[in-house]
Amino acid sequence: MSGGTVILGAGPTGLGAAYRLRERGENDFEIFERSGQVGGLATSFTDPKGWTWDVSGHIIFSGYKYFNDFLGRVLGDRIRWIDRESWIKFEDRYVRYPFQNHLSSLPEQAMLECLVGLVESQTIDRDRAFRNFEEWVLAKFGSGVAKHFMNPYNFKVWATPLSEMGYYWIAERVSVVDWRKAIQTTLLPQNTDWGPNAKFGYPLHGGTLGLWKGVLPFLGDDRVRYHKRAISIDEEKREIAFSDGTTRSYERLLSTLPLDALVARLCHAPEKVRAAAEKLLFNRLFSVGVGLRRPSPSDKNWIYFPNPKTPFYRMTYLSNYSPEIVPGGDTSKYFSVLTETSYSKFKPLPEGDFGKAVVDGLLAEGILQPSDLPLIETIFLIHAGHSYPIPSVDRNPALETIHAYLEPRGIFSRGRFGSWKYEIGNQDHSLMQGVELVDRWIDGREEKVFRS
Ligand SMILES: Cc1cc2nc3c(=O)[nH]c(=O)nc-3n(C[C@H](O)[C@H](O)[C@H](O)COP(=O)(O)OP(=O)(O)OC[C@H]3O[C@@H](n4cnc5c(N)ncnc54)[C@H](O)[C@@H]3O)c2cc1C
Repeated sequence: MSGGTVILGAGPTGLGAAYRLRERGENDFEIFERSGQVGGLATSFTDPKGWTWDVSGHIIFSGYKYFNDFLGRVLGDRIRWIDRESWIKFEDRYVRYPFQNHLSSLPEQAMLECLVGLVESQTIDRDRAFRNFEEWVLAKFGSGVAKHFMNPYNFKVWATPLSEMGYYWIAERVSVVDWRKAIQTTLLPQNTDWGPNAKFGYPLHGGTLGLWKGVLPFLGDDRVRYHKRAISIDEEKREIAFSDGTTRSYERLLSTLPLDALVARLCHAPEKVRAAAEKLLFNRLFSVGVGLRRPSPSDKNWIYFPNPKTPFYRMTYLSNYSPEIVPGGDTSKYFSVLTETSYSKFKPLPEGDFGKAVVDGLLAEGILQPSDLPLIETIFLIHAGHSYPIPSVDRNPALETIHAYLEPRGIFSRGRFGSWKYEIGNQDHSLMQGVELVDRWIDGREEKVFRS
């Protein structure tokens, strides 16, 4: 086959585009995927002992009607809806997420520093200017919340100095608390179910992969070509070369590769496009899954760890999402946790045996007890070469330069790392980027998510 529409990558963006192409009656397309399965970062692996692991615990929530209808068609009632139980481990105690809305749980000295900082930053210092994320945190929360949570936690997640990051991406992703409300909830504690994911979904079967595998029957037969790794793209001839020596031409190409990897594969990109791609910052991820032969000791969903000595920034009680992801679906016998550790050129991985470092961290944080060690049945390591696209200070001009070169040549780069926009980087945003691109191709409709 030649010509037509080609999709590189069978993650949520590529699958979303393919689903929409079929829905709109278009059949002249193929998907090429370098790995042996769909899902991309939203995939899952079942280890030889029967434990299923996500790249990171993927929760489903969306404000898009199209995505929610899609979910209904693909999963029907094969989804579990869960009330969020997310916490922060602060020294010897748990503080409910978001930290800044639950200061009443802090030790007194930290509580005082956080409150004083909030009042100062929002009253006497309220005209303080900010140019980057670090300064934004200080301006909005003050020095106490910055010191005790925002700075250490965010450096662990992003693996990037906060001064290198912009603040334009924040919108509803960080809860900004008013100082009056902070004093009120500290003196009269209450739980605040803040945020769009206070209730979330998770596929009943197969982990996160269960959702994306469920799309395949909607695409028609044999639509995804697996183990096809694009190694170069001749954007003048409109032709892709794969690592198996084959080539494929296209009229229009949806690429969901990380944008830096796409630019590196172009045959004719000018220096200014290559230089723009080099400006894009990202981090990488090491996830470690630990499966134990005992029931879950907790009904929490996930916990954040700001302590710089703890190697992971987050841990999910993955088996609390669905019983089907432990051997035999038996959560009366087994439970699993999944930790996430970011690293980058700014924050290297700890040296030595990483699985052991994670288990030691779980012991130090009191998630596991020494008596649990003989009950560990499996330790599973997952690596992601691109994890978070960093919303860096100079990201947007770089993106404009790259897209302005690609689109006249029939190349549309979309998705978490295709658009390189963290703020539209979840599964629902990714699917919508694929869907809306197809609508633009077919009848010129505006792409709202990608342009937002
Ligand atoms: C740590 C972490 C936690 C997350 N948590 C959540 C969450 O809780 N909820 C949520 O909704 N979303 C979450 N996400 C986001 C979710 O993973 C993404 O939205 C989604 O996977 C992006 O889809 P995509 O298709 O754009 O890209 P990807 O998933 O990256 O897919 C790209 C595909 O392209 C393929 N590919 C790459 N290079 C080539 C090549 N050269 N040739 C051919 N194919 C290639 C890859 O193998 C992959 O399958 C999380 C992501 C991360 C990293």
